[in-house]
Amino acid sequence: MTLKHQLEHDFKHRQEWALRRQLGIPNNRRLGVCTCMDERLPIDDALGIRGDRGDAHVFRNAGGLITDDAIRSAMLSCQFFGTEEIVIVNHTECGMMSAHAETLVKALRDKGLNLDDIQLDPALPDLKLEKGAFARWMKMFSDVDEICAQQVDFAIIR
Ligand SMILES: [Zn+2]
Repeated sequence: MTLKHQLEHDFKHRQEWALRRQLGIPNNRRLGVCTCMDERLPIDDALGIRGDRGDAHVFRNAGGLITDDAIRSAMLSCQFFGTEEIVIVNHTECGMMSAHAETLVKALRDKGLNLDDIQLDPALPDLKLEKGAFARWMKMFSDVDEICAQQVDFAIIR
């Protein structure tokens, strides 16, 4: 293959990659993943996927919890981008298991944060936590098996 043909081939491949959505190409495994943001959790290796090759839509947050944004992302992934299965991965030694919610609230207040006026979404200023709901919103947990089962139940689209 000549250099010109190689460059044309590489360009075509990259263009197809960039246009996956427009071409209707789902992620390679038709898989969604919701997991913890913990950098110690090698989710690609654990699941045998390659994030850099487009194997799955991976959503990470503190604890790997089904939150409003996880639901938003999963809904789009399943309804428009070909995802057929969602895997939820929670883990032991999670930072979300390191303190009771009330302890976390006290630590954040001691740092000077106003937890009574949390803006959930800067684009939706009317969306606010009711007073006293911050600790529940943080969703600290103590039993990883229990929290994982709960997340699976939350992820089922009804
Ligand atoms: Zn974690």
